[in-house]
Amino acid sequence: NEELLRIDNLSVDYKVRDGFLSAVKNASFEIRKKEIFAIVGESGCGKSTIAHSILRLLPEHNEIIKGQIMFKGKDLNQATEKELEAVRGKQIGMIFQNPLDSLNPVYTTGKQVEEGILIDKIPREEAWNRVIEMYKDVKMPDAERRAKSYPHELSGGMRQRVMIAMMLARDPNLLIADEPTTALDVTIEAQILRLIKQLRDEYGTAVMLITHNFGLVAEIADYVAVMYAGMIVETGTVYDIFDHPMHPYSSLLMKALPRMTKKEGRLTTIDGSVPRLTSDKPGCRFANRCPFAKERCFNEDPDIRKISETHNVRCFLEKGVDVR
Ligand code: ATP
Ligand code: MG
Repeated sequence: NEELLRIDNLSVDYKVRDGFLSAVKNASFEIRKKEIFAIVGESGCGKSTIAHSILRLLPEHNEIIKGQIMFKGKDLNQATEKELEAVRGKQIGMIFQNPLDSLNPVYTTGKQVEEGILIDKIPREEAWNRVIEMYKDVKMPDAERRAKSYPHELSGGMRQRVMIAMMLARDPNLLIADEPTTALDVTIEAQILRLIKQLRDEYGTAVMLITHNFGLVAEIADYVAVMYAGMIVETGTVYDIFDHPMHPYSSLLMKALPRMTKKEGRLTTIDGSVPRLTSDKPGCRFANRCPFAKERCFNEDPDIRKISETHNVRCFLEKGVDVR
C-alpha cells in the first residue's frame, strides 16, 4: 500500500490580536493511495485547519504553517504558489460544507463542471458528454436535465453531487472533503458518503474525510485520526479506534457515541473545557479533562507512539484505557 500524502510535525498557528493561537500542534499521519482517511474530533479541534493547510487555502491568511506536507514526494509547504496552483483541483480536489459558496449562480451546473474538464484541452462536444457521464457516475437523477439546471434549481444533496462530479472530472489522486454532508438531512448524508466510497472503489481516489457522523465513519473509512485541541491523539484502523481505543479521549468519545445525535453531536458529554490554545505551554492538552491524568501529563508533551503496525497513540499510559 503506497504512501500518497505524509504529514510530518505539522503545526499551524493563527496570528490573533493578543498573540498566536496554536490550532494544530505536531500533527503527523499518512494517507495511502486509495485509502479513506477520516479525521474526527469536536468543533474547533483543528480539522479544517489541517485540511486547508494542505492546499494553503486558509481564508484569513493569518496562519503560520510549520512542518512537512509531503504529497507524491514533494513538500507542499515549501512549494511556490504557482506549484500549488498545479496541484489544486488537478491532483488534490476539495469539497466543502456549502456547495453554494463554490457554485456560480448565473451558469448551469453542467457548464461549471464542463469548465473544469475544458482546462485539460478536450474538444467541447466530448467535454459535454463527459459532464453527462460524470452526472450519471455521481447518481444524479435525470442527469441530462440536471446538467442544464442552475444551482438554485437543485436540492442540497444534488448540489453536493455536482461538486463531487466537478472534482472527479479532473481525476485527482486525493479528495479532501471537509464536512461535505453537514448541511444535508440524515438520509441524504448517508447517500453522499456512501457515494464517496463507491467512487473511491471505482476511481481509486484517496479521500481525507472530515465528518461528525461517526456511524458512517465506521462504515466507510479505512483509517481514522482522532483530534483533540489541535493534537492528533490517536490514529488507527476503524477496528483499532472503534473497538480498541487506547487514548482516554478516544475512549470517552466512543463511550459517548450512542448519546450523540446528528446536530448536537458535537460532544458536550465530557467534563471540563478545552484549554485556551494561545499559550503553547508543554503538557498533554487533554490532561485537565482526563480522569487518568498524572502530574507528568501536565508538564510534558507525550510523543505519538506506535503500538501496532496500524495503531498510534499520544499518551503516557502504557496500556491505554478503555472506559467504555
Ligand atoms: P468545526 O468542527 O467546528 O469545523 P474544526 O475542527 O474544523 O471545527 P478549525 O476550524 O480548524 O476547527 O479551528 C481550529 C481553531 O482555530 C479554533 O479554535 C478556531 O476558532 C481557530 N481558528 C480558525 N481559523 C482561524 C483564524 N483564521 N484566525 C484565528 N483563529 C482561527
Ligand atoms: Mg471545520
